[in-house]
Amino acid sequence: MALNTTTFFNVINNELTSTPHTRHGINPANRQPNPEVPLSTADDLDRAVAAARAAFKTWSRTSLDERRVAIHAFADLLAAHADELAALLTREQGKPLAQASVELGMAIQWPRGFTSLTLPETVLEDTQDRQVVQRYVPLGVCGAIVPWNFPVLLAVGKIIPAVYTGNTVIVKPSPFTPYCDLKLAELAAKCFPPGVVQALSGGDDLGPMMTEHPGIDKISFTGSTVTGRRVMASCAKTLKRLTLELGGNDPAIICEDVDVDAVVPKVGIVSFLCASQICMMIKRLYVHEKIYDEFRDKLIQFVQAMKIGDGTEPDVFFGPVQNAMQYDKAKNLLGAISADSLEAISSPLPISSGYFIPPTIVDNPPESSRIVQEEPFAPILPMLKWSDEADVLTRANASEYGLSASVWSKDFSRARRMADHLEAGSVFVNSHFECAPWAPFGGHKMSGIGTEWGVNGLKAYCNSQTLWLHQA
Ligand code: NAD
Repeated sequence: MALNTTTFFNVINNELTSTPHTRHGINPANRQPNPEVPLSTADDLDRAVAAARAAFKTWSRTSLDERRVAIHAFADLLAAHADELAALLTREQGKPLAQASVELGMAIQWPRGFTSLTLPETVLEDTQDRQVVQRYVPLGVCGAIVPWNFPVLLAVGKIIPAVYTGNTVIVKPSPFTPYCDLKLAELAAKCFPPGVVQALSGGDDLGPMMTEHPGIDKISFTGSTVTGRRVMASCAKTLKRLTLELGGNDPAIICEDVDVDAVVPKVGIVSFLCASQICMMIKRLYVHEKIYDEFRDKLIQFVQAMKIGDGTEPDVFFGPVQNAMQYDKAKNLLGAISADSLEAISSPLPISSGYFIPPTIVDNPPESSRIVQEEPFAPILPMLKWSDEADVLTRANASEYGLSASVWSKDFSRARRMADHLEAGSVFVNSHFECAPWAPFGGHKMSGIGTEWGVNGLKAYCNSQTLWLHQA
């Protein structure tokens, strides 16, 4: 049966519920309103928490195999509705349909990747006197707070590890992109018992209500560093477990020996996907001075050849930025670039009412400029020259962020040696922006606390428990 993508509900205890007041998001490609969604209150949250706590009693006692069956059924339903969800994702997020389909593809694969992992018990001592065993037990009710840039994958990337480890979960989408996440919960209601996976849409007050709520045991938050600090402060009151996946300002270091023609398109893609609104995009591009001019000119050529427009049009690579706030921030940054008379090369924009920012490459701005220091989260990329290895590593690490970083060189051992000095949660050699459900993902420094995904990520949804076992 086709997925209804015109009416949207909260999912509480596997029931589709509405709220007296509603709100809506905006299609960023044309600023037209998207459909109404619920505006949840503290009462709605209380009901969801009560249902989640009740469900936890039985769900936490199910076997991994039982959970796998439900999770795989969910992945199959996602696959069955992938095209409708991808179209909905383009309508709410703005990313081109091809990129929305890639996000759906990842969200379909990730559940099977997670369920191939296990958290075995570890026997720490096994003597005549006693057995000492460490194991991992679920936490209880988890709150999944999701941002607007990758709403499908990042929601699935929280829901599945939470429920696979025996927890129940309440998803809170960003108010900017509630649509796909509400539909994910509707599909989950067909696969999981009541109260195991729920979703509430709301305004700016819903996130703080969740972080304050005494009935929620863990918050998994993905979003900006500024909000992450607030979330952490709020969670401290109830000592909630917490994972923070925050902002980034990723450096990529291009050595002088690279094959420029081969590397430029790769770097172009992993700098500008999703109009650069991905935490792990290249946001500071350090290119060796010997190849700087050639690299810059070819990168500009590459970027200018990419189509800009509404993500529903064929072959579009650059969609709009997602919302008015992001649009204003990017405009302000472009204003600072021109006020500082920095050299910037922009692609021309089509005439449109959407939130389009011209893809821009800033030519060797000072390290202290805003475009180097801040996370633009818009298609504006600073290119910087380097000549000395130690110096470029110092500059690459001179950021409060430490999400990911990369080195590109034909000389693998040199690249490995340089990569070993980079301060980041993910470090790439000759690539950038890779992730997998079985690989932990997280940030150093102000880019986050803890990791999601991989075995480490599963542990983040558990308490460690040590059993001291004596025969009577
Ligand atoms: P945001 O911090 O504004 O919002 C993220 C989520 O938090 C939203 O659901 C929002 O409604 C909610 N929220 C807002 N205030 C809250 C509060 N006080 N308490 C609880 N919840 C609250 O982030 P955004 O603008 O949606 O996302 C962009 C940012 O996310 C960028 O900085 C990007 O780098 C980062 N990001 C990080 C990762 C990662 O894995 N490290 C992934 C994607 C995005």
